[in-house]
Amino acid sequence: MQVYGLIGNPVGHSLSPPMHEAGYGSLGIDARYVTFEPAPDDAAEAIEGAGALGVAGLNVTVPFKQDALEAVDPAPLAERIGAVNTVDFAPVREGDADRPRGHNTDAAGVKRAFSHHDVEIDGRDAVVVGAGGAGRAAAFALADAGAAVHVANRTAERAVELAEAVPGATGAGLDDLGDRVAAADVLVNATSVGMDDPDATPVPAEHLHGDLAVLDAVYAPIETRLLREAADAGATTVDGAWMLLFQGVEAFEIWTGADAPVEAMNAALRAELE
Ligand code: NAP
Repeated sequence: MQVYGLIGNPVGHSLSPPMHEAGYGSLGIDARYVTFEPAPDDAAEAIEGAGALGVAGLNVTVPFKQDALEAVDPAPLAERIGAVNTVDFAPVREGDADRPRGHNTDAAGVKRAFSHHDVEIDGRDAVVVGAGGAGRAAAFALADAGAAVHVANRTAERAVELAEAVPGATGAGLDDLGDRVAAADVLVNATSVGMDDPDATPVPAEHLHGDLAVLDAVYAPIETRLLREAADAGATTVDGAWMLLFQGVEAFEIWTGADAPVEAMNAALRAELE
């Protein structure tokens, strides 16, 4: 039996175990997915320890995604984003490397969530609100898929800094966010706005329009005020569970080498969210 898992602190709320185990069950893979909660400054020790115990793959969540970079051989995209959310121990187990391979599948989560909804990214104008972990992944994903990206963030300096690293991107504070969204084709909310306060929204409704595709990274609640108002404006909406699903699907495929059973994993995730 293979063991996969997640390190984070806290991880008690994680939706990943039922999602991944539905995938193993659907393909008849003999595996379990478990959660580990190391102390907040123990990312490297936890990853090394998991490898020593024979864990085949690890997902990494808050607060370990940046520190995990130090414990792995990062794939180029993970290095550019500056964060690792998926660790693959196969290169070490097979004697090909000293360190496990580190990936960032949050970017694939954004890209595949849009493509699943037939949203074209190449050549489009995209606005990413937020410059934290999710914002970094979204900005690189959209730029690599051919979008012209504008990053808007409450702390303007973080947006400018991120935009300097993302090909062709611009970055600023929130002052002209409304005008940017009004002129955009694609919008990603990568802030936590709308999570703790369901009445909050990162973009006032008056700027939303029918030519927009909107992904909200927030998945609890699953229907945020932003998505409700975007749907009212005629926009295509993609909820945060799709991003969560596809980052998991991408990790599953890296670890197992099999095409993930997307429908089974999605059903398990949505059952858990409901
Ligand atoms: P993070 O690194 O802590 O970044 C938080 C971001 O939200 C920053 O850009 C921050 O701006 C902004 N922000 C926070 N409160 C704000 C407010 N009141 N007004 C305006 N901006 C505000 O967090 P993260 O890991 O990127 O996560 C962000 C959200 O994405 C969370 O809701 C998380 O659950 C979600 N997420 C979803 C997925 C998925 O798979 N669906 C994956 C990752 C994250 P400042 O820089 O100014 O502080």
